[in-house]
Amino acid sequence: MRYVSTRGQAPVLDFAEVTLAGLASDGGLYVPEHWPNFSAEEIAALAQLSYAQVAAKVMAPFIGDAIPQADVERLAQEAYATFHHDAVVPFTQINEKHFIMELFHGPTLAFKDVALQFLGQLFNYLLERQETGLTIIGATSGDTGSAAIHAVAGQDKSAIFMLHPYGRVSDVQRRQMTTVLAPNVFNIAVDGSFDDCQAMVKQLLRDQSLSQKSPLSAVNSINWARVMAQIVYYFTTAVAMGAPHRAISFSVPTGNFGDVFAGYVAMKMGLPIERLIVATNENDILHRALSTGDYSTQGVVPTITPSMDIQVSSNFERLLFDLSDRDGSQVADIMTRFAEEGAMRLPKQWLDKARQVFSSHSVTQDETSATISWAQDHANMIIDPHSAVALAAAHACADQVSSPIVALATAHPAKFRDAVERATGTRPALPHFVGDIFGREERFAHLPADINAVRAYISEHMA
Ligand SMILES: *Cc1c(COP(=O)(O)O)cnc(C)c1O
Repeated sequence: MRYVSTRGQAPVLDFAEVTLAGLASDGGLYVPEHWPNFSAEEIAALAQLSYAQVAAKVMAPFIGDAIPQADVERLAQEAYATFHHDAVVPFTQINEKHFIMELFHGPTLAFKDVALQFLGQLFNYLLERQETGLTIIGATSGDTGSAAIHAVAGQDKSAIFMLHPYGRVSDVQRRQMTTVLAPNVFNIAVDGSFDDCQAMVKQLLRDQSLSQKSPLSAVNSINWARVMAQIVYYFTTAVAMGAPHRAISFSVPTGNFGDVFAGYVAMKMGLPIERLIVATNENDILHRALSTGDYSTQGVVPTITPSMDIQVSSNFERLLFDLSDRDGSQVADIMTRFAEEGAMRLPKQWLDKARQVFSSHSVTQDETSATISWAQDHANMIIDPHSAVALAAAHACADQVSSPIVALATAHPAKFRDAVERATGTRPALPHFVGDIFGREERFAHLPADINAVRAYISEHMA
């Protein structure tokens, strides 16, 4: 498979290149040159297979001959052996129409592990076959940093430098990063905000004094391989629930649009998905875009679902590219205008096309809390606030859908214990395998929000 940029001007890359690359050189995102297609027989045959085997089959057309199929299956097996549930991504039925799919059984208790555990294996595999190593530099306000660190900890050919704002991530989130003592993991606590961290990372990734020493990469959500690994659970769940013979819908708690875009790709590949519900919190740019065509930024409101507190959803550009019939110059025009004005209107034909597949709903924090307590009372389940946003949107959109709706549960309730405790009166316990992080040694550098200090630290410690 070859990969093209959504803005049409960057070089075409192969799978290995696109996995190690970040943003395309024209500012766009890489997407496969075409969507592969699975026949009904091929989909039905997945029912016999394990999660790792389905992963290898679903990802095969995207990886092509870059990695032999048996190796892909082995990488998937290793990636998902770190999950604390035999099914990897199990699901349960709540009532006649509603189901929940649990994506939080990985090492850091959030769905980012599903993609990043596999990406860590891929990096290792690809780097072993080339001379140079890789230096990963990222900024985190919580979830992504710990999932990325756990994905590459202990590997010889990569090092990871993760910046977080000092004193502004929760104790659990910080310790999930700083108690990983592998020699290739470097946590940097910065005296500043998350935005300061992110601004420095953008500058560092372009810094030639660093990139001369080692290729640099970000493990952010624009990485194509992350989206690819997320397509798999749409297939495993749909097939377990009767695909290809029965249609299914999904409600997805959405921030950067990576997760729900993976569902869209699954549909393009032939999975019988009736509807994808884009569930947002009060930061509702995507709900406004998909319901009225108004794609405009309004500043971020902090909520009890911090992983969805976004201003702009980077992966939305991948959908726009498809809606434009893959017209890179039109996407480039629109995105340039959006960058300048912070606002644009989706062309009517694009909006009509999007609404054939996507519904959307914005959920307030009160509704989120009410849904957490509803799940406790009516389904005897304790769910986290992000999962509650998905479930609330599934309820709100239920009359638009005739198939069963699966809400994606993206975090373990113990990861967002304060909000869960406020809604239910009970404080969820951390699973035993993370419970001892409060007794473990922490290691991190504490630096001022000064690019020179951070650059010097990275330069000194990089491989
Ligand atoms: C990242 C994240 C999301 C949002 O997923 P996107 O792919 O960015 O849309 C939702 N819930 C949790 C818990 C997350 O960590």
